[in-house]
Amino acid sequence: MRPTTNNLLSFIGKIAVVTGAGAGIGRAIALRLAGAGATVAVLDKDEQQARQTLEAITQAGGTGCSWSADVGNGPAVTNIFQEIAVTFGRVDILVNNAGIYPVAPIDELSDELLDKVFAVNLRGALYCLREAGRQMQGGGVIINISSIDSLRPSAPGLGAYGASKAALNALTRSAAVEYGPRGIRVNAILPGVIVTEGTSIMPDEARQFYASRTPLGRNGVPDDIAGAVLLLASPLACFVTGQTLIVDGGFTING
Ligand code: NAP
Repeated sequence: MRPTTNNLLSFIGKIAVVTGAGAGIGRAIALRLAGAGATVAVLDKDEQQARQTLEAITQAGGTGCSWSADVGNGPAVTNIFQEIAVTFGRVDILVNNAGIYPVAPIDELSDELLDKVFAVNLRGALYCLREAGRQMQGGGVIINISSIDSLRPSAPGLGAYGASKAALNALTRSAAVEYGPRGIRVNAILPGVIVTEGTSIMPDEARQFYASRTPLGRNGVPDDIAGAVLLLASPLACFVTGQTLIVDGGFTING
């Protein structure tokens, strides 16, 4: 039978790992993947938040497990991926979503903060990608959640953040080249302003400014990014790798 679009967007039988899945964009991604049939390993720094996402998945009829760790801690990431291998046997999809975006002007940027931003946003993604890559012996999909700030600053004070995400884009392309021959596709999604727990501290004026500059007339919601993840993770995108997909309602093309 010729596959229909519907079953191309089915993830039944797939094992997906989503980092930073206890809140915001990661939570929406985990719920969407589970809703499409994937078994989801929910990873978050906060144990309770990870468990809450898992509960939401199981209440909706999905399956998964939850783990808590800081993705910037290499040995902890290795342990969790070993546990995932024991529990599920393999990884098919990794979504590197965990990230932090502290605001600090370059003049006030401490070495500690710089290290922390790179530890989570770049090294954390690399640790997970490396562990998942080792388990993806029959092919797989890796999606790194980057940012439009990797291309141009959306506000002052995001220098370390933008640099870490630009490095993540570079890692995405290198991993796509190295993993392509093994049937592993690696892409990045670059969200614009998305309303989440993390961006809740953004002043209303800033929120309104971004919405007013967005051709689609609003800021994003986590599910906007989750939808793009499903598309890139699906066989509909089977010839797409090493790409950076902007998902921002058109904000970056608007001057
Ligand atoms: P969020 O609301 O702050 O949620 C992030 C989740 O990741 C939280 O549950 C957080 O746990 C967890 N996390 C943070 N550091 C972690 C670590 N070291 N190890 C494991 N988990 C960790 O963030 P978000 O707005 O959804 O953003 C998610 C991703 O999208 C980030 O990579 C961000 O850079 C990217 N992004 C977001 C936007 C936006 O406008 N929201 C725009 C562009 C890109 P805690 O709550 O315990 O910290």
